[in-house]
Amino acid sequence: MIRKLLRKVFKRPATPARHEPALIPVERHGIRREQLSPAARKVCAVLQEKGFKAFVVGGAVRDLLIGHPPKDYDVATSATPEEVRAAFRRSRIIGRRFKIVHVMSGPETIEVSTFRASQDAESADTDEHGRVLRDNVFGNQQEDATRRDFTVNALYYDPGTETIVDYHHGVADIQQKTLRMIGDPRTRYREDPVRMLRAVRLAAKLGLTIDPAARQPIREMGPLLENVPAARLFDEMLKLLFSGHSLKCLQQLRAEGLHHGLLPLLDVILEQPMGERFVTLALENTDERVREDKSVSPGFLFSTLLWHEVLKTWDNKKAAGDHSQPALFEAMDEVLDAQAGKLAITRRIAGDIKDIWALQPRFDKRAGKAPYRVIEQPRYRAGWDFLRLRAQAGEIPMEIVDWWDDFAHAGPDQREALLRQAPPDAAPAAKKRRRRKRKPAGETPAAADAAVVDPS
Ligand code: ATP
Ligand code: MG
Repeated sequence: MIRKLLRKVFKRPATPARHEPALIPVERHGIRREQLSPAARKVCAVLQEKGFKAFVVGGAVRDLLIGHPPKDYDVATSATPEEVRAAFRRSRIIGRRFKIVHVMSGPETIEVSTFRASQDAESADTDEHGRVLRDNVFGNQQEDATRRDFTVNALYYDPGTETIVDYHHGVADIQQKTLRMIGDPRTRYREDPVRMLRAVRLAAKLGLTIDPAARQPIREMGPLLENVPAARLFDEMLKLLFSGHSLKCLQQLRAEGLHHGLLPLLDVILEQPMGERFVTLALENTDERVREDKSVSPGFLFSTLLWHEVLKTWDNKKAAGDHSQPALFEAMDEVLDAQAGKLAITRRIAGDIKDIWALQPRFDKRAGKAPYRVIEQPRYRAGWDFLRLRAQAGEIPMEIVDWWDDFAHAGPDQREALLRQAPPDAAPAAKKRRRRKRKPAGETPAAADAAVVDPS
C-alpha cells in the first residue's frame, strides 16, 4: 500500500524532463541580424517589445547557416494568434484547425505561429496507422522544438541578441551536414509520413546526408504515404519539383525506393526509358528557372512529366483503330485520371495541361488557316515552349520549332511566304497515304489534312 503510494508520488512525469537548450552566440554561428529580411526583424522586435518571446525559426535559420538565401521567414512566438493579430495592423489569422497569423510588411508576408505542444501518438487523435490528425495544442518553446521534424529545423534565432537557441544540437548537425530526426524516426514517420518526403527534399536541396537511423526505415515505411490526403501530397510534390533541385530530389527518391506504387506520377517520371531524356530536360529547365527566380508553372511541368504516358496511350488507341484526334483526348483524360486519385491536380492545372497537349498535333499543320488559329490560342506560348522541349529531346526536328517562332513573329506577307515554304504536314507518311485516298481530286493534301485534324 505504502509502496504503491510512493510509486504514485514519485512516478516519472509523462513529459520528458526539461532540458536546457544551448545558447549559441553570434561569434560561433555568424548570422548577423542584417542578413534577415526587414519584415522578419520587425515582427520579432514588435512582439518582444510587448513582452512576448519571438524568434525566427525553421527553414530560414537553417538556410542562413548553410549559406542559402532563405525563401521566406517563419516566426515562432509565445503570443497567441489573437495577440499577434492585435500587434500588427496588416495581419490576418488563417487556418481553422491550428491558427497562424500572416503579418504583411512591405512586400513580405511573415508566417507567425504560436509555440505548439508536441503530441505523441498515444495522446493525440490519430488514424488507424498512427498518423496524427490534429496538432493544435499550444505549448512552450521547448515543446515547440520537440514537435519539429529535423534537428536543423528546430533552431530559434533571436534578432535582438543574435543568439541561436538550439534544443537538439541542430547547429552541430548542420556543421556535420547531417539531417537528423528529432525523436524516434519510425514514430515520427508514423505520425506524419510526409516527413519521409521532406527528408529526401531537404537532403537533396541542402546537400545534407540523411542520418542512417532516419534513412533506413524509409524504404519499409514508404507505403504509409498512401494514407496521406491527396491535396497534401500534391503540395509536397510541388515543393519537391520546384525546389530548384528536382532532378536530385527525384534521384534520391528513387534511391530510397520511395517511388514504387506510391505516387503514379513518380513511377511515370522515374520509369519511362523512352521519355527519360524529355523528362530530364524538363526538370533541368525547371531547376534553372527556379534558381534564376523566374516564374514556373505547375501545369507546364506536369504536362511534360506525363507526356510520354499520353503518347503511349494515344499510340495504343490509334493502333487499335481509333481516330487520331478523339484518341488523343481520351488518352489525355485517362492519364490525368490515373493521377487524380493520389495527386489532387486542381481543375485549373488539369485544364492548362490539356491545353498544352492538345496544341501539339496542331503544330504539325503548317498550311491553310490553321496556323493563324494556333498562334491565337491563349496557351500558345506554353505549347510552343513544350514543342521546343520535344525538339531538344530529339522527338521532332528543331526546324518545326523555328518555323512556328518565325510565323508567330512575322508580318502578313512573311506569314504567307512561310506557309508556302513549310512542308504541309509532319504526320507520318502512312497516315497521309490513307487520307489521300479519300480526298476529292484537286484538293491539296495540306488543306484537307488541316480540315480533318484541326479541332478548332
Ligand atoms: P522550406 O521552406 O525550405 O521548404 P522549411 O523547413 O521551412 O523548408 P516549412 O514547410 O516552411 O519547411 O516548415 C517550417 C518549419 O515547420 C520547418 O522548418 C519545421 O520546423 C516545421 N515543420 C514543417 N513540416 C513539418 C512536419 N511535417 N513535421 C514537423 N515539423 C514540421
Ligand atoms: Mg519555410
